[in-house]
Amino acid sequence: MLTRLDRLRAAMRERDLPALLITEPANRRYISGFTGSAGALLVAADAALIFSDSRYRIQVGQEAAAFTLHEITTEQTFPVLLAAAARELALERVGFEASHMTYAAHGELSAALAEAAALPPALVPVEGLVEGLRMVKDAEELAALRQAIAITDAALALVLPRLRPSHTERQAAWMLEVAMREAGAEALAFPIIVAAGQNSARPHARPGDQKLGQGRPIVIDMGARFGGYHADLTRTIMLGMLDPMFREVYTTVRKAQQAAIAGLRAGLSGHAADALAREVIAEAGYGEKFGHGLGHGVGLNIHEGPSLRRAAPGSEDKAHILRAGHVTSVEPGIYIEGWGGVRIEDLVLITEDGCEVLSAAPK
Ligand code: ZN
Ligand code: ZN
Repeated sequence: MLTRLDRLRAAMRERDLPALLITEPANRRYISGFTGSAGALLVAADAALIFSDSRYRIQVGQEAAAFTLHEITTEQTFPVLLAAAARELALERVGFEASHMTYAAHGELSAALAEAAALPPALVPVEGLVEGLRMVKDAEELAALRQAIAITDAALALVLPRLRPSHTERQAAWMLEVAMREAGAEALAFPIIVAAGQNSARPHARPGDQKLGQGRPIVIDMGARFGGYHADLTRTIMLGMLDPMFREVYTTVRKAQQAAIAGLRAGLSGHAADALAREVIAEAGYGEKFGHGLGHGVGLNIHEGPSLRRAAPGSEDKAHILRAGHVTSVEPGIYIEGWGGVRIEDLVLITEDGCEVLSAAPK
């Protein structure tokens, strides 16, 4: 079986890239196994180095045995160590993760490389290389994701029957947080959203002192993190009697989500996937009220590829193509200022001929 490092080297050969510097934390963890908060990797055809400091000496040995530790100290700074390694490996080009390196860090690296060699290697910007590998989940990743999702589902099931109109959004969010932690979450995947009434018209509202109340939509967006992997679940509920407006909007969002889930499969583009749900919402007359994309991949980050969204007008079509093994959210929503919003979100696993809904929370 090919290791992640093997697959990375194959992708580097495809791009004719002799070496890659990896600084994005999730990419670093994915390729090396190292879960610490500070460090960088340098991967070349026959070298795998990890740069970190003495705080992580033991952990690197345990988690990233395939990597040789180059220990950062006050004198031997990261740029100095990297420049020495590049000279030793006689690298002519070193790719760096352009979306994750600051301008200042790039300047320091360039200066150190120029100082270490008469003919320093060129720093080559690279985008999406490790992220591309990360989109297709392996068995170990799927097991962690399923566990994060099960914890999230269980916490919601526990808390829902306890919610009362007199609870504030913040109290409800805390009940959900406690329930997830007690069910085994290592952390929250992101700050929980509980948005009641008019607040629910803001897709990323923060929980405040607003009471949940009765006869108003309440959007709950939550997720547990387990083994580094993130769950993401949204349900919209109403306490007390359902009003006709809620029924109509909820039914539309539900139908849009069903249409998307029925149509998702390997080979579909992210744009086409988004359209499956957007058409249903537009037909019901709420097209303008669905402002965000249909979904996003989840994994070591809460938002990663593939991206399921509309094509930007006039731009070149650069949609992700869904592949078996992608895990993505499906989260259509309708947001009406002055009234509130409805969003329903589940995570699905893309398969060759369809998708498997991973979340089990009732709708
Ligand atoms: Zn969410
Ligand atoms: Zn989401």
